[in-house]
Amino acid sequence: MNKFDYMERYGFEQLIYFHDKTTGLKGITVIHDTTLGPALGGARLWNYESEDEACLDCLRLARGMTFKNAAAGLNLGGGKTVLIGDANVVKSEAYFRALGRYVQSLNGRYITAEDVNTTTKDMDYIRMETDYVVGLEDRSGNPSPITALGAFHGIRASLQYRFGNADVSQYAYAVQGVGETGTALIGYLKEAGAKKIYFSDINPKKINKLQKTHPEVEFVEAEEIYSLPVDVFVPCALGAVLNQRTIPKLKCAIVAGTANNVLEDEEKDGMLLKERGILYAPDFVINAGGVINVYHELHGYRREAVIKDVEKIYDRLLEIFRIADQENIDNQQAAMVYAKKRMQIIAGIRSNYIPR
Ligand code: NAD
Repeated sequence: MNKFDYMERYGFEQLIYFHDKTTGLKGITVIHDTTLGPALGGARLWNYESEDEACLDCLRLARGMTFKNAAAGLNLGGGKTVLIGDANVVKSEAYFRALGRYVQSLNGRYITAEDVNTTTKDMDYIRMETDYVVGLEDRSGNPSPITALGAFHGIRASLQYRFGNADVSQYAYAVQGVGETGTALIGYLKEAGAKKIYFSDINPKKINKLQKTHPEVEFVEAEEIYSLPVDVFVPCALGAVLNQRTIPKLKCAIVAGTANNVLEDEEKDGMLLKERGILYAPDFVINAGGVINVYHELHGYRREAVIKDVEKIYDRLLEIFRIADQENIDNQQAAMVYAKKRMQIIAGIRSNYIPR
């Protein structure tokens, strides 16, 4: 991979490699775009097969954060860190403090947070060495219930757009994956009186737990979840679940959930959903509750303010659905148009010199 070519093609600002001699910390930070503010994105710890694989993952994820943060109405750019190593072996206080020092060396151009294999506890170690970390245990805490709340409002917006009625109690739902966000979302759907809820998971412990807490929510096998006659398919498991094989099975009118990268091939699968008349709530817009939650740590965290901000996902999605219809593009593309437009406009209003 020619990194400069890739950076030029997708507009990256900065790519940083770092290595700590004491702890063996090996990592990459990418700052994609800081038009709207400091680049924010989590630190992912993964045993990558190669340096190139890690670098490409970091580049892609950082770019994704630019559009996620822009679409969420936050004054943040997009960035990401990947750490190369085995999470069962490398983690320690010193390891994360060493990372914190590299984050600090970027002087606020990049703000880190938790991601795959990093926790709020690790962020507390990072905090010992830098001011530029969010997602702390004693501040915004676990983001999953807030992510689920955002998805709940996203489901309501989708119902409103598709059926002209956002009353959750009139519809049936198929929730794929009952981990942190799926379980919380089922809670919100039940509270709103959902007519019927099905769920699937592949982990017997998760299945048992959900059956105990919500016995009326009906379990179905993993493959069966796609073809259920429901109004809303709610992906809350892994990415790439909707593709040329699974989309033809869908009988729902709406796809809206918390999962990231739901579409295996964004262009082809987004279009296929549109052609089938299925309304897709773009993943990076509907699942932005988590990043909205940590963003508030930068401005004095207040739960009520976060909840208000997360509710805005409702109107944002309606606007994106309108753009898709007006421009005859799929909803994922429309979400990109929406995010880029905000970046352009804000860059535009900042073009005059104001002394501060
Ligand atoms: P989680 O690990 O707590 O839950 C995922 C669940 O999906 C697990 O119970 C797992 O067993 C199940 N699963 C895996 N493969 C499955 C399959 N083929 N069929 C059915 N179930 C399957 O994760 P989470 O925190 O709830 O996140 C879920 C998704 O939402 C992920 O894609 C994540 O990236 C995304 N997301 C989460 C947050 C957050 O705040 N946690 C924020 C934004 C996006």
